[in-house]
Amino acid sequence: MTTLFADLNPPPRILMGPGPVGVDPRVLRAMAMPMLGQFDPAFTAYMNETMELLRQLYRTKNKWSFLVDGTARAGVEAILVSIVSPGDKVLVPVFGRFGHLLAEICRRCGGDVVTIDREWGTVFTPEEIEAAIKQHHPRILAVVHGDTSTTQAQPLDEIGALCRKHDVLLYTDATASLGGMNVAIDDWKVDAASSGLQKCLSGPPGSSPITINDRIVEVVKRRRHVEEGIRPPDFIEGDGPIISSNYFDLGMLMDYWGESRLNHHTEATSMLYAAREAVRIVLAEGLDACFARHRLASDALTTGLTEMGLMLFGDQRHKMPNVTGVYIPDGVNGDAVRGMMLNDFGIEIGTSFGPLHGKIWRIGTMGYVCRKENVLIGLAALETCLRQAGFRAKPGVDAALSVYRGAGQ
Ligand SMILES: *Cc1c(COP(=O)(O)O)cnc(C)c1O
Repeated sequence: MTTLFADLNPPPRILMGPGPVGVDPRVLRAMAMPMLGQFDPAFTAYMNETMELLRQLYRTKNKWSFLVDGTARAGVEAILVSIVSPGDKVLVPVFGRFGHLLAEICRRCGGDVVTIDREWGTVFTPEEIEAAIKQHHPRILAVVHGDTSTTQAQPLDEIGALCRKHDVLLYTDATASLGGMNVAIDDWKVDAASSGLQKCLSGPPGSSPITINDRIVEVVKRRRHVEEGIRPPDFIEGDGPIISSNYFDLGMLMDYWGESRLNHHTEATSMLYAAREAVRIVLAEGLDACFARHRLASDALTTGLTEMGLMLFGDQRHKMPNVTGVYIPDGVNGDAVRGMMLNDFGIEIGTSFGPLHGKIWRIGTMGYVCRKENVLIGLAALETCLRQAGFRAKPGVDAALSVYRGAGQ
């Protein structure tokens, strides 16, 4: 009973799992700022600024770059429920857990979903994806960019051009990759993308930055949005199948974020403050500098782990720099080591799902957590926990430190 009335006081943690991550204190401060009315010019100015910040983050000129309130899958659902009409053929290449999520959501939208599969730990070649496009003639290709469940990033630079050639719309889930590695929406000809704050953007879960181009806007405009009779007079309205969600209707969201500012939901004020600050921090560091910081951490971490005598998981050419999969050594209880990491060192590392469950740990170096001291402390702690668990880990911290020294740090 007494704890119910005690102040919330979470234990100190270093979050080195695949998300959520430790939040940048600047973001936490922004979230403590006072509320504004949602149509206060000061607040709508923040909304417009956030749209411009998101364009820079996504490397796009897309006017419609804005926030969907909710965790990362809010953005996924908003895009998919708004573009997948019942009966639409959707191709989903699956190379990890989140590919299954995209397929599931597309099915719920009434899509006629075809999946192609790769062994977890690998990604598709453009040829494989083109062959599937030629075989199935989808209207939409929905693919995860970086799948934290397998640490792999699907290269997208050639996929967009392929989709244009075959008149397919390309949506990607960039939740894990945005802010940690290059996501070049315009160069890659990606039509729609969504993300979350709680990975490389160093914010709390609860806001989903999305971007959509004119090809997507056209599709959305052809859908119906609200039942006949109750729609506002200047509402964009097509004659296609109705979008089956009000909250996630991109047409209504565009009318709320656009010049008409038609009332829809109440923008989650504190989350908008958080998102705006989180993106400002990344852009102030510089996108390329930020990606380089993630790559360096990945190099140092993988060098340290290998030196300790551990084996890395997955195709290293396609590993995301912000999460590393490492095999649990034979005879070691993976959950016991994770428990020791948490209870004795205050460090969270990730377990794994599906076919990888019990086989690998996933160690995140994302956003604000992606710093030299965390990499070194994490390695030192893991080394000790492994020895406690009966595995003779060799020292790995020195090798990781030399990677940082080699980069002048
Ligand atoms: C982490 C992650 C998500 C998380 O979605 P939430 O709704 O924020 O839990 C979605 N997609 C991918 C690819 C992820 O890595």
